[in-house]
Amino acid sequence: MSDELITRALVGGQWINGRGGTFPVTDPATGDEIARVADCTAGEVTSAIEAAAAAFEGWRLRSTKERAAVLLKVRDCLLQEKDTIATVLSRENGKPLAEATGEVGFAASFFEWFAEEARRHYGETIPSPSPSKRLVTVRQPVGVAALITPWNFPIGMIGRKVAAALAAGCTCVVKPAEDTPLTALLFAKICERAGVPAGVVNVVPCSRERVEEVGAALCASPRVQVLSFTGSTAVGQWLYSRCGPTVKKLALELGGDAPFIVFPSADLTRAVEGAMASKFRNTGQTCVTANRIFVHESIHDEFVSRFASAMDAELKVGRGLEKGINQGPIINQRQFDRLVKIVKDSVSAGAKTVRGGLSLGGLFYAPTLLTGVKMDMPVATQEIFGPVAAIIPFQNEEEVIRLANTTDKGLAGYFYSNDVSQVWRVAEALDVGMVGVNEAMVSSCEAPFGGFKQSGLGKEGSRYGLDEFAHLKYICFGI
Ligand code: ADP
Repeated sequence: MSDELITRALVGGQWINGRGGTFPVTDPATGDEIARVADCTAGEVTSAIEAAAAAFEGWRLRSTKERAAVLLKVRDCLLQEKDTIATVLSRENGKPLAEATGEVGFAASFFEWFAEEARRHYGETIPSPSPSKRLVTVRQPVGVAALITPWNFPIGMIGRKVAAALAAGCTCVVKPAEDTPLTALLFAKICERAGVPAGVVNVVPCSRERVEEVGAALCASPRVQVLSFTGSTAVGQWLYSRCGPTVKKLALELGGDAPFIVFPSADLTRAVEGAMASKFRNTGQTCVTANRIFVHESIHDEFVSRFASAMDAELKVGRGLEKGINQGPIINQRQFDRLVKIVKDSVSAGAKTVRGGLSLGGLFYAPTLLTGVKMDMPVATQEIFGPVAAIIPFQNEEEVIRLANTTDKGLAGYFYSNDVSQVWRVAEALDVGMVGVNEAMVSSCEAPFGGFKQSGLGKEGSRYGLDEFAHLKYICFGI
């Protein structure tokens, strides 16, 4: 694949310009413009929906084995082009190259997984209540899927959604994040090269100014049968409210506010490792990151001291493409200003800055450790989405479960304990969709990803991920 950046939208197998002109994509590490990308309007989105609807007629009729073969080809092409994709991803997102490379592998894993799952998307026979009837279920693709994805995993989230949609037999219109459309368009090129038929995957980037227009068009179209979105809770709520009139299926992966709890029996070495990985991966910009770190008062000082030492020893801030760094810039000014305000207001309210707490120029923010955090401080009530660890001491299990669940989000939760009864109690008591017990990295293609409460609806990955894109049809035979 050439190093040339792809800047036009893919609609029905054609690379097209946007009627909105172009919008700039910048390198968050330098502020430099990398490229200008097609700014699609509701017009191009409508064409993309029509192309997807036309392509659906053929794609749905392919056998699952044929569809699986195409998915495996996409996996192969992603892996072949891993370095090219990772470089573009790192440039526009800012994340370290090693993380970007890992993310391409993560995206590829969903193509492999769903290629396999497509062939096992079984219906069933149901024991009949009558001798003259036979009852059967089959699964069928719902139709055109709208997939709206965020900037923090520019190819991971697209891969997870597109692979499931295609495996189920749906076609799709992808609206990537305005900060990271170049990776999405490179992905579109890979699909084309892998032999995904024209119209099966359409990619329509647009600028921030146009997202409402484009989002409204996707929600309003009766041809779009399912909308799968990953992003903020506020935008998820906006989309949810607009999908009512057409009664679409919805899959929403929204904000998280993950508690990370360290009990007295925990292996502190593992707990510090887990907290470091969860907090600082992608510079803290993930929805499953440890947002509130609760540490039992008996081990609080020891934990803080070891965590601070680990931060000093391991974290290196710099441009994603620089060797040896593992903390990139914050994605954009809006997010950066938000982060600065959260820390400033929390410190004014009494939180103690043990490390960091300052801007390093441009969009770089120093990895930060705050202690003495109270539950009503912004750092504990908002999704931080940055490299800021907030430590809250607690006294007992009952109290910490209450505090952990005092949030309208319920995506992920983690805790470290070697007390086996406590492990069961706490795993069951946390109001979250995913629990890590003595483990901070829980996401994989095999496992169901999704949250409770305002963290969303539905599951991605796993065998359940296909169901978001399929109808369960019941057929009754009279004999
Ligand atoms: P963040 O605040 O982290 O950028 P968002 O939820 O705003 O997260 O963005 C996630 C995705 O949702 C991006 O692709 C963004 O363009 C898109 N988006 C934001 N607002 C809308 C909207 N009103 N309709 C459709 N998509 C939207």
